[in-house]
Amino acid sequence: MSRPVPNPGILDIAPYTPGKTPVPEPGRKVFKLSANETPFGPSPKAIEAYKHAAAHLEDYPEGTSKVLREAIARVFGLDPNRIICGAGSDEILNLLAHTYLSHGDEAISTAHGFLVYPIATMGNGARNVVAAETNFTADVDAILKAVTPRTKIVWLANPNNPTGTYIPFDEVKRLRAGLPSNVLLVLDAAYSDYVSRNDYEIGIELVATTENTVMTHTFSKIHGLAALRIGWMFGPAHIVDAVNRIRGPFNVSTPAMLAAVAAIEDSTHVEMSKAHTETWRNWITEEIRKLGLKVTPSVANFVLMHFPTEKGKTAAEADAFLTRRGLVLRALNNYQLPNSLRMTIGTEEANRLVVEGLRDFMGTT
Ligand SMILES: *Cc1c(COP(=O)(O)O)cnc(C)c1O
Repeated sequence: MSRPVPNPGILDIAPYTPGKTPVPEPGRKVFKLSANETPFGPSPKAIEAYKHAAAHLEDYPEGTSKVLREAIARVFGLDPNRIICGAGSDEILNLLAHTYLSHGDEAISTAHGFLVYPIATMGNGARNVVAAETNFTADVDAILKAVTPRTKIVWLANPNNPTGTYIPFDEVKRLRAGLPSNVLLVLDAAYSDYVSRNDYEIGIELVATTENTVMTHTFSKIHGLAALRIGWMFGPAHIVDAVNRIRGPFNVSTPAMLAAVAAIEDSTHVEMSKAHTETWRNWITEEIRKLGLKVTPSVANFVLMHFPTEKGKTAAEADAFLTRRGLVLRALNNYQLPNSLRMTIGTEEANRLVVEGLRDFMGTT
C-alpha cells in the first residue's frame, strides 16, 4: 500500500536530539550554560510590556509587526519597510530558504556553522555544501571555492555559534564581491551585540548597498527573550517583498512584539549585559587556559574549550563531571566537535564554579 512520502531531502536531515536533562548530585544548584541564554533575563520593561499585552489575548496581532519594525529602525537607523520580523530568526532563515532554494540547488555553510542552516537547506530539497574553516573561523577562500552554478545561498553567522569567532568586515565584503550576484548572502548577526572590535560590522552597509545580501538578528540572546521567539531581517526591497508573500500573516504574537519594543529601547540593560559578558569572557578564557586547555578566542557570549583525547581527560568526561556539579555545558558532537565543550557566560557564581570544577577535573582524574 502506498503512503505519503516526504519531499526530497527531508529524511536526510538528522532528527533533532534535545539536550539531556541533567541530573546533578543532590543539593547542587543547577546552572544552565548550554543554550547561550543571558543570565540576566530580559529588561524589566519588557516583562512589564508582556504583562500588559495579556489584557488583549483575544485579538490577532498587527500582521506586519509595525511597532517593532519601527523600533528596530530607530535603533539601527534603518528603513522600517525593509525589515521583516519573525518567530525567532529560525523562522526568517527558513523563510529565506523556502523563498530561494529548491530541489537541485546548493547552499553553503561552514564546517562548524549553526545547525539551522543545513536543516533549512535540506528541508527545501537543496544540498548542504560544507566549506572548511581555518582555526574554527569562516574561511572566505574556502567558501568561494565551494561555489558552483547551483549555489543559491551562502549562510554565514558572524560571529559564529558554536565557535565564537568572527571575520572582519573587509573579509565579509571580499566574500560578497567574490560571490556571483545571483547568490544570496545571509549574514546572521545573532551575537553582534557582544562584539566590540574595530574591524567588525554587523553588515548594514552591505545590505543597503547591494541587491543580494540580508542580515538577520534576534531578540533571543542579549535581549533575553528566547522564550517569546522573535527575530528579524533587514534586506533589499525585492527580497523583503518576496519573503513577505510566504510569511504567515500573524507570525509574531502581540506580547512578543511589545516586549521586544521595550527590550530594544532599554539600552542600559543591553550595555550592562555586554560589559558583564566581556569581563567574564576574558576571565574565563584566561583561567581555563591556565588549566592547560585550549580556548578558541571568542567575541560572543560563550566560549569554546578543547579537551585532550586521552582517557580521563576527554570532553565527554568533563561534561559528565561538571553535570554532576549542576554545571550544564553544551557537548558538540552534532557540530563535528566531539573534543570540545561550549560554555555560555553566566553569572559570576556560575563562571567561578565552572573554573573550579574544571580545575578539579583536570587535577583529580
Ligand atoms: C541563537 C542563534 C540564533 C537565534 O535564533 P532564534 O530563532 O532567533 O532564537 C540565530 N543564529 C545563531 C547562529 C544562533 O546561535
